[in-house]
Amino acid sequence: MIDANDLLNAVTNDLVIEIMDENGSPLYDKSIDLKTNQECLWFRTICHGGDSHKLCYFTKSKDFYCYTNCGRMPFFEFIKKIRGFSDGEFYECLKYVGEKIGYNFKANRYGIGESREQKIRNNESKVIESIKRRKNLKFSVVENKIYDANILNYFDENTFYTGWMNEGISIESMQKFGIRWYEYQKHIIIPHYDINGNLIGIRRRSLKPEDADNKYMPEYISGKSFEHSLGLNLYGIYENQDALRRYRRAIIVEGEKSVLLSDTYYGNESYTVATCGFNVSRQQMTLLSELGVRIVYLGFDKDYDILKEEEYKKDEQTYKNYLNYQKRLETLALRLNSLFNVYIIQDAHGYLGHKDSPFDRGKDTLELLLKDSTKWVKVRR
Ligand SMILES: [Zn+2]
Repeated sequence: MIDANDLLNAVTNDLVIEIMDENGSPLYDKSIDLKTNQECLWFRTICHGGDSHKLCYFTKSKDFYCYTNCGRMPFFEFIKKIRGFSDGEFYECLKYVGEKIGYNFKANRYGIGESREQKIRNNESKVIESIKRRKNLKFSVVENKIYDANILNYFDENTFYTGWMNEGISIESMQKFGIRWYEYQKHIIIPHYDINGNLIGIRRRSLKPEDADNKYMPEYISGKSFEHSLGLNLYGIYENQDALRRYRRAIIVEGEKSVLLSDTYYGNESYTVATCGFNVSRQQMTLLSELGVRIVYLGFDKDYDILKEEEYKKDEQTYKNYLNYQKRLETLALRLNSLFNVYIIQDAHGYLGHKDSPFDRGKDTLELLLKDSTKWVKVRR
């Protein structure tokens, strides 16, 4: 039998960062908690599918705290949640973590007389072994929890937000993607479907001023959350799967709105999918690869302007953030490059505004950006 405490002892900070990354939430920041004097790792709130970075992992007590919504979560409770395991699947949850550590699940490899310290030492050496081994393993797709789609009847399917229409999204595209309106809360309802058309999550775009920092969140109805792990799916993969298969290429964007704009521009020829965050997880790569995709365009939001590099240099922190942003794009390109030919869309001519997605300034601008996009090649340093 696996001992949860033994497993937890063997969990290193690097392993937590890796698990989070794999589930769509790369390390965002680090800090020290002065009360308990322990290091804290900060992540996006994938626990409930939010997009703020208020999820903290306490490295000594090894538990998670979500400041937006979920509160304190013991380590394995948290893993259970992000991997969609049910209450009866605690063993599966241990196995998911254990296999990353290198724990042998076929048979208990520990001798009866082995001390706790020996166990921990063994586990640590296995961590290193497993990291080496894992590089060669094939990644299998994790199924999402499925919600009853009847819940969507709760919302108005004939009211559309004029703000989105003014930004260029057609009513036809909103209808195709099942966008609805929640009058009572003033929310735009965005259903998320897996590749088979199962409803796996509902996100909302709030129009209330008090939600300015949390515009995109999972929807709650009568206290029930319709959250999902964003890193386990791609928004638009259900609607755009034929074009993805046909063209064997994909434009990867951050937000749902860009997928809708793409549909308005190209209709059934659109092969745009959204990761719903500044990341591409291994599962998202696997999903595209299994559709036969060979070329990907990385079209994330323009958080920094490469034309302003000299200006950024004047402020140390801004310049550091800018370099981190570029480094993050490089890391993602390197990761994608293991399965695809990668083209990075970067706005070298100032077509886009701050925080714009490549889709935000019309179809012609998008096509200029696509034409300008450069094939990413690994530079030996
Ligand atoms: Zn949460």
